[in-house]
Amino acid sequence: MLVVRVGINGYGTIGKRVAHAVFLQDDMELIGVVKKTPDYAAFQAQRAGIGIYVIKDDDIKKFEEKGIEVKGTLNDLLSKVDVIVDATPGGTGAKYRDLYVSKGVKAIFQGGEKPNVAERSFSTLCNYEEALNKNSLRVVSCNTTGLLRLICTLHKTFGVESVRAVIVRRAADPKEIKRGPINAIVLNPPTIPSHHGEDVKEVLPWLDIITAAVVVPTTLMHVHNVMLKLSKTVTREDIISVLEESPRIILVSSEATGIRSTAEIIEAAREVRKRGDVPELVVFEDSITTRGNELMLFQAIHQESIVIPENIDAIRAVTGLAPTAEATISITDSSLGLKAPLW
Ligand code: NAD
Repeated sequence: MLVVRVGINGYGTIGKRVAHAVFLQDDMELIGVVKKTPDYAAFQAQRAGIGIYVIKDDDIKKFEEKGIEVKGTLNDLLSKVDVIVDATPGGTGAKYRDLYVSKGVKAIFQGGEKPNVAERSFSTLCNYEEALNKNSLRVVSCNTTGLLRLICTLHKTFGVESVRAVIVRRAADPKEIKRGPINAIVLNPPTIPSHHGEDVKEVLPWLDIITAAVVVPTTLMHVHNVMLKLSKTVTREDIISVLEESPRIILVSSEATGIRSTAEIIEAAREVRKRGDVPELVVFEDSITTRGNELMLFQAIHQESIVIPENIDAIRAVTGLAPTAEATISITDSSLGLKAPLW
């Protein structure tokens, strides 16, 4: 079997999760990760047997002084890998793009980068085949991934004519100690549309979509209120049955489970999932409401983990490891335990 060698630049919220997911794939080998700071995450990576690389030679001493063995620099890592997953903070990946190109390494960027950082913006359920054998892809952000999973799943069966969505964004990830708001609901931005709909159009240019967003003082998940106009008249039951069958989407029945908040979803996940991650899009079943060809629902997105399956698929797409979306989804989802019962 062909085994693709993968490196990860940036070992934060997304980088550490992609590293773990790569480790679980039989057709991928994790060569190492680039750490900026010799902190608790570096100690944990070292204990997990992950090769640690630094950005430049000058950084080696500060890691070694703390007892962290350094395998080399980013340049050394790039000379050993087929694919680099850039998980540096938003906007930083673009600064590395020319380096990745000059080393002849395929690159996967994240949604915090501008769309032109890569040859294509990517979402497995929407455009896997278009991404095959590209040199670079940008996995769209957590909110965009959630919207696209829903839209592309419904589009296949019912046709989607237009989408309107209000996005209630978490303020920060749980580990971020310096970000707010602490006591406000902030229009993000104060004008409509927000950038999320525009980002969806990077993948589905034909779609009529408008989004608006606010940021609220929570760290757990985002919530979307999505309103779609479909090409057919549908019933609630039609929607439920399609979403139930779809990969990467789970339904939560408030009536059956008592769950009606992001806090309860994460509490349930903490019992059964590594880190309490929920890479699936969670649709609140009781909120699904139809009128003719209109559909309205609430969905929740675990921002720290939703893009991880798409990062793994993106590696398979650029290297041609899997010829179709179905092929990569089946490997990725079984290795990550997606759709395993949460409640
Ligand atoms: P993060 O801040 O948690 O992690 C970034 C890591 O990169 C940190 O460990 C930091 O020390 C390191 N770093 C900083 N500068 C660096 C440099 N010059 N070179 C190498 N490493 C450097 O960020 P994150 O949340 O993991 O976000 C990474 C990307 O993923 C961003 O584009 C973001 O928009 C996107 N994203 C984030 C989320 C989320 O909710 N956290 C969800 C989806 C997509």
